[in-house]
Amino acid sequence: MSLVVFIEFADGVYKKSSLEALSMARSLAESTQQKVVAVQLNGPCDSQILGQHGAHKVLHNGSDLGAFAADSWGKALAQMCQETQAEVVIISNTYSGKSLAPRVAHELKADMASQVVSMPETSNGFRVKRSVFSGKAFAWVQLTSPIKVLALTPNSFPIQTWNESASLETTQVSASSTIQVESVQKVSGKIPLTEAEIVVSGGRGMKGPEHWGMIETLANQLGAATACSKPVSDMGWRPHSEHVGQTGITIKPNLYIAVGISGAIQHLAGVSSSKVIVAINKDPEAPFFKAADYGIVGDAFEVLPQLIEASK
Ligand SMILES: Cc1cc2nc3c(=O)[nH]c(=O)nc-3n(C[C@H](O)[C@H](O)[C@H](O)COP(=O)(O)OP(=O)(O)OC[C@H]3O[C@@H](n4cnc5c(N)ncnc54)[C@H](O)[C@@H]3O)c2cc1C
Repeated sequence: MSLVVFIEFADGVYKKSSLEALSMARSLAESTQQKVVAVQLNGPCDSQILGQHGAHKVLHNGSDLGAFAADSWGKALAQMCQETQAEVVIISNTYSGKSLAPRVAHELKADMASQVVSMPETSNGFRVKRSVFSGKAFAWVQLTSPIKVLALTPNSFPIQTWNESASLETTQVSASSTIQVESVQKVSGKIPLTEAEIVVSGGRGMKGPEHWGMIETLANQLGAATACSKPVSDMGWRPHSEHVGQTGITIKPNLYIAVGISGAIQHLAGVSSSKVIVAINKDPEAPFFKAADYGIVGDAFEVLPQLIEASK
């Protein structure tokens, strides 16, 4: 029996969220006496890095599955989980992970919990803590099926290292997809939003795309990713990949700086789990101030240059 972690490899590196999932799996394995198997479906494999982050064994798929497609990758992952007699499968709740986890759970006839925010408790059954109601509350749920699938929210578990190496096994699993990926547009040279520890985000209060230079400068200086509210991406000021909230991405950075965003409930749904929230708004009654840890009442066009100067 094993704990399987799905490892995402993109742009020549392992995703930070996968290493977090691996660290959580290893911490769990130490109390349940299970083995941690890291499953990697694409790219070259570095079993040393995966071993250092908690894997006892790495199962690498040598077949080319092509660009990510949830149906074929889900089937391949499920097949590899069966090979390793997985009892718990941990997948990061990233763009790909979100669509993969339910498919894998279906293939394995497993109970599944998404938006998991901490290590499961195993002293009395198998209980996991999930974020629910758009981040407004937490629920403890009990998973009772023999196999369990967890989708772990990025930034929920710290990356840890072990002074160990993992064994490497290559397998050949192929699965066909009904989805045809025609082209892939990549945002390059930026910190992925779901991985970022700091996020600087702009709303309609920024007045137009021509003013985003200030958001980007502050983000660059802080080593942060950039995000935006829904109207901003709807109007084409920013790409949809930056839209956070109920209908966008859910993020959990250590620091979220919201500039000229009102703080509508649908926006907060995607960011309220951030560890520290700073809201900058010229309206002292803006709802964001109720959700924020720190608030600056002021004009973004005066506050941002000062923040940029201070952050130098
Ligand atoms: C079903 C549904 C789903 C939705 N999903 C999402 C979602 O996922 N994400 C999301 O963001 N929204 C979502 N929305 C939209 C949401 O309800 C709000 O309309 C939206 O978040 C408002 O965006 P905003 O704060 O940028 O703009 P506004 O509401 O226009 O707020 C702009 C803010 O900027 C401030 N401001 C203006 N000028 C300045 C200045 N110079 N300096 C400082 N502050 C200034 C204003 O005081 C105001 O508070 C959804 C809505 C629905 C109905």
